[in-house]
Amino acid sequence: MDHVISLRSLISGREFAVNEVEYVDPEYGNEGILDVCYDYDLIGKCISRESLRENRELNIWRYKPLLPVEADAAVPSLAVGWTPMYDAPRMAAYLGLKHVWVKDDGRNPTASFKDRASAIAVVKAREKGAGIITTASTGNAAAALSGLCASVEQPNVIFVPESAPPAKIAQLLVFNSTVMLVQGTYDDAFELCLEAAAEYGWYNRNTAYNPYMTEGKKTASFEICEQLNWKTPDRIFVSVGDGCIIGGLHKGLKDLLALGWIDKMPKLMGIQAVGSSYMYQAWVNDEDVLTKPPVDAATVADSISAGLPRDRLKAMAAVKETDGAYISVTDDEILAAIPALARLSAVFGEPAGAAAYAGLVKAVQENLISSDEKVVVLNTGNGLKDIASAMKSVEMAGTKPYRVSPDLNDLKRVMRTIIE
Ligand SMILES: *Cc1c(COP(=O)(O)O)cnc(C)c1O
Repeated sequence: MDHVISLRSLISGREFAVNEVEYVDPEYGNEGILDVCYDYDLIGKCISRESLRENRELNIWRYKPLLPVEADAAVPSLAVGWTPMYDAPRMAAYLGLKHVWVKDDGRNPTASFKDRASAIAVVKAREKGAGIITTASTGNAAAALSGLCASVEQPNVIFVPESAPPAKIAQLLVFNSTVMLVQGTYDDAFELCLEAAAEYGWYNRNTAYNPYMTEGKKTASFEICEQLNWKTPDRIFVSVGDGCIIGGLHKGLKDLLALGWIDKMPKLMGIQAVGSSYMYQAWVNDEDVLTKPPVDAATVADSISAGLPRDRLKAMAAVKETDGAYISVTDDEILAAIPALARLSAVFGEPAGAAAYAGLVKAVQENLISSDEKVVVLNTGNGLKDIASAMKSVEMAGTKPYRVSPDLNDLKRVMRTIIE
């Protein structure tokens, strides 16, 4: 891996050789998050915007020279990434914006953005000859790891809060993961998983602990820019729980700037639920995320429910260094965004996915954004992940099915009530 120069500690700036440390800066323990540093001159010799134009591999591995894996590493066969980027002119017109695109990461193999990171985790674990991979998750990172492991027959142990939506737990069991339903919050599951990994020597995929997860997530930025023909949008809206996705988006954009493939940094807009708004509060009050204590987390958007965002250093830098903003939205606004997003762009998101759209609506309402801006909304998870919330969202929107007996006359009766 000549193209990876070092792992740099985000807290102290200290650089480690790639094989010197496994996950974190030992001086800071579990909080010692590392950033992967690359030799961009070398990378520029292996890949270019022109070579990509000829590349028919429509998944994250088209960017392999920009990823922390060996050039000849075997990669999982599941088609992760290269998700659709839909032009959404009706949404743009409705919001009074110049251009809006919706990138639908619910279209990944296990139906969320998390597949991007888990694909890297599986390759890194194989590189290390790991017997078992583990992760804690609110649900989607678990389903992603579970599916990616199934594709390469990799044993894995998963820790999720027992409150995770049933669809996500079903995915884990179908793929045959060993599933620990933790009687506590995601934060409790995370701590237990870290302890278990240390106790049993399992390969650890945990977000903001394993430095390579950011590297998988950054592929969404590569795709956004490539799909827009290397013309960057003005802003990208994305929901934030642990902060790994927004940190990954930032990393990908920094890579592209370093390579000279884009000439402008889009502003990153982090959307949090009011009931789980650690990053929003820290940003508004200019608090130090290294010392700010956890907050209580409770929101309908289970995927962004995190009392202590594990990737808060990267997540804060992503917003501050791009001149973006954090926005918080209520659970009602999130639920209203599910049918709104679906009706304006035909993308069905789970609550955490639709939250990004709720954030865009609020940014427009509060004049944080001007009408000539070009905006990307990232849907991070498929709506089928959480049917209970989807049903609640349409009930709140007043959309109901009609009951009809299998008889044309009865249908006519019902139709009359609709037409009136
Ligand atoms: C994990 C997840 C998020 C948030 O990502 P973080 O890296 O935790 O900030 C948002 N939406 C969905 C659907 C997710 O699964």
